[in-house]
Parts: sequence; structure tokens; C-alpha cells
Amino acid sequence: MYTSLLRDARFAHALFDMDERIAAEARQRPCARCGGPLHRADYRRKPRGAAWAEDPRHSVRQSLCCGRDGCRKRATPPSARFLGRRVYWAVTVVLGAALQHGLSARRVSRLSAELGVDRRTLSRWRQWWLQTYRRSEHFTRRRGELPATLDVATLPQSLLDAFTGDAPARMTALLRWLSSAPG
Ligand SMILES: [Zn+2]
Repeated sequence: MYTSLLRDARFAHALFDMDERIAAEARQRPCARCGGPLHRADYRRKPRGAAWAEDPRHSVRQSLCCGRDGCRKRATPPSARFLGRRVYWAVTVVLGAALQHGLSARRVSRLSAELGVDRRTLSRWRQWWLQTYRRSEHFTRRRGELPATLDVATLPQSLLDAFTGDAPARMTALLRWLSSAPG
């Protein structure tokens, strides 16, 4: 079951490692403003919506900063864990929207209690996937990598279904996909 991922420490560590790789790769490139070298400049964030947030390692947002005096421009790489500036984890935003499809109002209430996310927020996430993300440059540009039969009316569940493997593998693939999208 997908919601068990919110308590799965191994899954959380895999996402952390993925963000480490994304940051290490971004560090290979020079500062976009002055061409100087990028250094690690992580900061702390404490998103909501998953039990593993209690592990202090998971509140690290991998980030970079130009090492040249007078520039010091921050460059925060994409992430499989953080979705832009949202206060919830990316995985929670995916699950909260995906699991709503086809649910009665009563069962949405149950989902809201299970995730610890109020119903208005759940509804907003669903609208974000169905309207904002669906029309985004990221989705439009990369749509061709997905099966032609992908049902845009059931995003992001249809996106999860488009990847293969067990629940952690599908969710990891989706978060990797989403990490290249602007928040
Ligand atoms: Zn610079």
C-alpha cells in the first residue's frame, strides 16, 4: 500500500540518496551568474506529512552556493523530496492527490485523517495536478516519454501506473520524474 511509504525509513533514505546524487551532479557545473565554483550550502526545512520527518537528516535541503566573493549566488538543485516551497513532502502531495480518485466524500475524510492533511489542502493538490501541472511546460515537453494511453484526468495516479515495479519503485520513479519540474 502506498501510504506505508510515509512510514518507510528505507524509502526515505533512498530519496535522500537520490537528492545527494542530484546535488553532487549540480555541483559539477559552474555558478550560473559568474562561472565561479559551487560549494555545498545546505539548509534546514521541516516539511509535514511523513513519519520519517522526525529523523534530522531528512530536514536537510541540499543546496549550493557560489564560492566567489561578491557573488555567493545560491543555486538550489531539484529534489525528489521537496516540491518547491510546499510545506508538505513531495511524496505526500503525490499520494494525497492520487488516492482521491474515485473516492466518496466519506472516504476522502478518512484519507484526510490518515495523511494528517485537511480536505481543502487535498482538494487543492488535486486541482494542481489536474490543471496547473497538466498544462505545465514540464509535462507538455516530456509527455512523449510516457505511454500514449496515459489518462490526464486521473493524474497523478495515471503517472504512478505508467511506471513499473512495486509501490516504492513506482513512487521513486515518479518523484525522480517530478524533480526536474519547477516547483
Ligand atoms: Zn557566482
